[in-house]
Amino acid sequence: MKRILLMGTGGTIASESTEAGLAPELTTQQLLSYLPGVEEMAQVECLQLMNLDSTNLQPCHHLEMARCIRRHYDDYDGFVITHGTDTMAYTAAALSYLIQGSPKPIVLTGAQKPIGFDSTDSKINLLDAFRCACEDMPGVSIVFNSRVILGTRARKTRTKSFQAFSSINYPDLGVLRDGVLLRYIRQSCLPRPVFYDRMDQRVALMKLIPGAGREQADFLLARNDALIIESFGVGGLPESGGFDACIRQWMDAGRTIVLTTQVPAEGSDLGVYHVGHRLKNELRVLEAYDMTTEAVVAKLMWILGQTRDRREVERLFYTPVALDILFPAP
Ligand code: ASP
Repeated sequence: MKRILLMGTGGTIASESTEAGLAPELTTQQLLSYLPGVEEMAQVECLQLMNLDSTNLQPCHHLEMARCIRRHYDDYDGFVITHGTDTMAYTAAALSYLIQGSPKPIVLTGAQKPIGFDSTDSKINLLDAFRCACEDMPGVSIVFNSRVILGTRARKTRTKSFQAFSSINYPDLGVLRDGVLLRYIRQSCLPRPVFYDRMDQRVALMKLIPGAGREQADFLLARNDALIIESFGVGGLPESGGFDACIRQWMDAGRTIVLTTQVPAEGSDLGVYHVGHRLKNELRVLEAYDMTTEAVVAKLMWILGQTRDRREVERLFYTPVALDILFPAP
């Protein structure tokens, strides 16, 4: 029988009603008690890493999750992490960079309704996560509402419905039907994973709105090592407002700047319009292509945790990790 490590981090799935709203209180052992019969599927051991609303999670918690998996990697066949849905996509992306090429499944799940509620998605999601953790399903994924989504491609796209997550610019890895996994895609893996233990938290994100000038970008670039700008459409920046000078100045000062799009699907293509072309060809900003913003955030934190060399940052950024970027590198 497969040995699975259940790691609890909090979230709605483990929440109970309090006078001040839902708060995570149940332990992993208590979560497991809601799933009688799970012992016929796998031998599960429990570990409580933290018990937090995922809004409160930070990169140090991502590092802690990765460290825990590294420590226990040889003792289990698969790993299930229960997690709040709000930042689950960020954690899934972070773990995809911190643990690369894992032949064993690392599955995140959670729920929109607490496990103790009469109407809840918690039990089916947790059971499905165990099913997937027992399969030959390498790498980091999110199992939610009967779908298996690649860790680097997930985004929370609904705040209330059970169908909370979408896979962005990439198909689902599989679906679960009546407890059976139909796997469409198997991620490639290494004989053993490569673990990383450093992230640079000084990564900022700015969403462009009509009328924005360089002031916000200046503020963020003065305080961070990298700035992601979510621009419009396939990508570009206003030709007035001082953005070009801003980018030149901060890139000369060693900052990394990435252009992406605020449009939900299909990604950036900076070279298409005059408003984007110069950024890529003259100013040499990086562009996200089909990566999710969550993945760009995590990838920059991972890269800048390893190097500050501009060429190396660029090389690593465009090197696919866990199928995060499919667009051909320039
Ligand atoms: N606020 C909760 C969290 O992310 C929402 C959830 O788990 O669904 O922890």
